[in-house]
Amino acid sequence: MKKAYHQVLRKPHIAYFSMEIALSSEIPTYAGGLGILAGDTLRTAADLELPLVGVTLISRMGYFRQEISASGEQIEHKDTWKLEDSAIALDAKIAVPIAARNVWVQAWLYVIKGHTHHPIPVILLDTDLTENDPEDRQITHFLYGGNKEYRLRQEIVLGVGGARMLNALGMGIKTYHMNEGHSSLLALELLRQYEREQDAIGPWESKYNFARVKEQCLFTTHTPVESGHDKFPYTIVEQLLDDFIDMNELRRLAGDEHLNMTRLALNLSGYVNGVAREHARTSNSMFPGYRVHAITNGIHPLTWAHYSFAELYDRYIPEWCHESELLVRADEIPDTELWQAHMTAKQQLIELANRLCQTQLHPEIPIIGFARRMTGYKRPDMLFHDIDRLLAIAEKYPIQVVMAGKAHPGDESGKLLIRKIYKHMHELKDRIPMVFLPDYDMDVARAMVSGSDIWLNTPLRPFEASGTSGMKAAINGVPNLSVLDGWWVEGCIEGITGWAIGDATSPEANGNDAGALYDKLEQVVLPLYSNDRDAWLRIMKAAITKNASYFNSHRMMRRYATEAYMR
Ligand SMILES: *Cc1c(COP(=O)(O)O)cnc(C)c1O
Repeated sequence: MKKAYHQVLRKPHIAYFSMEIALSSEIPTYAGGLGILAGDTLRTAADLELPLVGVTLISRMGYFRQEISASGEQIEHKDTWKLEDSAIALDAKIAVPIAARNVWVQAWLYVIKGHTHHPIPVILLDTDLTENDPEDRQITHFLYGGNKEYRLRQEIVLGVGGARMLNALGMGIKTYHMNEGHSSLLALELLRQYEREQDAIGPWESKYNFARVKEQCLFTTHTPVESGHDKFPYTIVEQLLDDFIDMNELRRLAGDEHLNMTRLALNLSGYVNGVAREHARTSNSMFPGYRVHAITNGIHPLTWAHYSFAELYDRYIPEWCHESELLVRADEIPDTELWQAHMTAKQQLIELANRLCQTQLHPEIPIIGFARRMTGYKRPDMLFHDIDRLLAIAEKYPIQVVMAGKAHPGDESGKLLIRKIYKHMHELKDRIPMVFLPDYDMDVARAMVSGSDIWLNTPLRPFEASGTSGMKAAINGVPNLSVLDGWWVEGCIEGITGWAIGDATSPEANGNDAGALYDKLEQVVLPLYSNDRDAWLRIMKAAITKNASYFNSHRMMRRYATEAYMR
């Protein structure tokens, strides 16, 4: 057994670092879109047999399990998991200096298998060891928990600890991919590893070999607004990092006021990209002087296609799991079979909703699905902006609504949104069947993106860097109705792959979206669903042939491989 693991660990030379990675629904080492993307990236690396290793924290207490009270109060529970059931403890241990003492880190191994059974190792970093102080044992417990200081401790373990662990495991890593800024301290660790001897450098040269580090590092940014970037006050940085790096040098690399993890990554990466075309454009204007490329996100086909669709694709497009571009041929699937596959998925969502929320949803009425992080910029309450208008529309064209989403435990306005939505749902439930499914995770997501009829997205421009749940809907033939932000700017062909809410990509359009949403529902989307099933099926197919064939992680990874890793 041991020997087999060494085989798995020997090959990788590209390390993919991410604060969260969604490995499976049973393993709560993720909070949302960033983690799902990381998981889909590694699952695709396995399909394509790329030499990648994933690195993340073990998050023994998970993110949190969400319960919602009758009044719409979010209740947060610990989400512990049995790591011994899924991961293997490796005997490698390393130490990282935090606040002038050594914190020991152990590695656990989780193996992702691709559709050809090719294994990709994921290293889970764990500080819950008897040799550590009680405080340090908790560093890898809570994903996105605690205060700034706790978070910086986590990021030291992830970046510095992760890089040291890969060395200790004997991996010859040549390329380090930082998925968001949380792991950018790894570049500091590399600067230290490649430090030059004083007598080997000229009088005006730095002892740090920036060129070598930049050659090895690449960075994917996910945050389209300055305020969203991870920043730490230097008082905390000095206390925790101590003499790990020359502080003047660090200020030059990471900003004078705060340690800005995005700045640090930008300055030490030879390749930088955003996660959609619009997002790269915004990032380029936010960071003048840097070149931010665009590699639009994708989703892992086999993970997100409902089995009824996977089975159809197996029959009509046999190589779809490996070369998802072939989904352009989905027009060959007979309409009746496509509709049948959709109704199978819809029936399952209805059963799940009926079971979890003691409600009664109907298979013949269209379901509008909306699931995402409950936070201000996603505007999850837009559907309820004008209740009279909503009721008038539902009077003409009956609808049902299924929603889900977690608010970060520290985001009071996000929790308020859940209470607000709950209240509306309760008041309207006799006229519009509506449910809010608790504990949005990969399983709930899979049920919702395949079982809804219309996938709704209402972000405030330009905050949606990419968004991926709409891509999951597309691979299940579910058309999107969305504000033109993130991936939908590239994916929307009006009336063909789905519909836009408003027709502008600029933030000035934000204020008109609720009206535009009602108009589009009343005048275009719902009449089509009720009156013209053939036309509706053409849109479902176009979602597959024109969206799913492109917005998948295989196209994305082939681009990372050729443009970023093989630089
Ligand atoms: C896909 C997914 C997300 C991200 O969806 P967005 O459209 O980017 O908001 C978040 N959480 C879960 C559980 C998901 O499956």
